[in-house]
Amino acid sequence: MKDHPHIIIGGGIIGLSIGWQLLRAGRPVEIYEESAIPRSGAGWNAAGMLAPHAEAGYEEEALYNLCLQGLSAYPEFLSELREDVRENEVPALDRCGSMIVAVTADDSVILQRQFEFRKKLGQDGMELIRGAEAREREPLLSPKVKQALYLANDGQINNRKLISALHEAFLNRGGIIHEHQQVDRVVVRKGKAEGVEVSGVSRNASSITVAPGALAGKIKGIDPIGIRPVKGQVVTLKSEPSAELHHLIRSPRIYLAAKDDGRLLVGASAEEKGLDRRITAGPIMELLHYAWEVLPAVYELEITELQSGMRPASRDNCPIIGQADEEGLYYATGHYRNGILLAPLTAYALRDEILLGTKRADLQVFSPSRFSQEAHIIEEVV
Ligand SMILES: Cc1cc2nc3c(=O)[nH]c(=O)nc-3n(C[C@H](O)[C@H](O)[C@H](O)COP(=O)(O)OP(=O)(O)OC[C@H]3O[C@@H](n4cnc5c(N)ncnc54)[C@H](O)[C@@H]3O)c2cc1C
Repeated sequence: MKDHPHIIIGGGIIGLSIGWQLLRAGRPVEIYEESAIPRSGAGWNAAGMLAPHAEAGYEEEALYNLCLQGLSAYPEFLSELREDVRENEVPALDRCGSMIVAVTADDSVILQRQFEFRKKLGQDGMELIRGAEAREREPLLSPKVKQALYLANDGQINNRKLISALHEAFLNRGGIIHEHQQVDRVVVRKGKAEGVEVSGVSRNASSITVAPGALAGKIKGIDPIGIRPVKGQVVTLKSEPSAELHHLIRSPRIYLAAKDDGRLLVGASAEEKGLDRRITAGPIMELLHYAWEVLPAVYELEITELQSGMRPASRDNCPIIGQADEEGLYYATGHYRNGILLAPLTAYALRDEILLGTKRADLQVFSPSRFSQEAHIIEEVV
């Protein structure tokens, strides 16, 4: 078995990151991707926000702490990437900060609650500022902006450039990619994962990582672990000096992320519609309306792309990272809104678990076994 490669199911940002890190540590890796890299996964449609401070959700403290660690892992990850691809192919980490703005009286109440909650979390670099001060920092914001929560320590990255660089780095390190090859089944014998089945043909593996994003539930032979797709529609505008932004801007309804390649992303809907990827009028209309409410200059900008992507969400909306009950089988999915942010941390953690058997303490609560344990408890109660 030692001679067989480590097989990764899915060549999205998570699969590529893990594969590249395993290759750097000397383990042969093959990725099976049902579509074509780099555009195949949700990561291509993402906004590339690295924003644990703005994303922090009530009752999600463990996830918040993980996301902080995720952001901390970025500098090392990018510096390793510079060793494996040309310098100009590696995206910059932009420490731009986030601003959550209030336009209505209700928004101000929401902001006040978010401020109090973040204070309890002990967030650094946070200020609740008045509208006029928000406009000093971000001059093109609407005069309707009454208040803003400024979060200095968030950042962003050009996610498309990152995925392309990871793709290149994976190949440069000798990784093999099988494109347009869908894994139908994981073959498990006597409690050990031995390989995968692709169009009825078996491929042996020393071990396997399941990283198919929102499609994890479609793979046979393993626990479907309750992953569901949450659709996000995004409008891409062509940025112009009249609409220039220096921070990630959010309202309770939308976000605006200005990328370094001239795209201004307006996102995103969150729709529970299964695998329906269609672009639909309602969400696009709302995104544009609420973007205009915050940044009136949006009205004149050219629309260059409309896109939708599938966030992989687990039952508790937290990632699933680590070894499954079966020997040699690992999961890395369920990253939901934070897959770009958590890609470096996930890759380092799984690399160490696969090669050395070590598990990070802060990942215990995100292990796949939390769902099987839940199942055992339910069985006992019944
Ligand atoms: C609109 C939107 C905005 C977002 N914004 C952000 C953001 O700002 N910051 C952030 O951190 N995250 C963001 N996300 C979330 C992030 O994009 C995801 O969490 C991340 O892409 C998950 O990565 P993944 O590799 O697990 O899945 P994916 O990127 O979806 O990749 C999975 C890959 O597996 C392949 N695959 C599936 N099944 C099989 C199979 N059976 N055999 C072979 N291949 C298979 C797919 O074709 C795909 O290429 C956003 C997502 C969306 C949709």
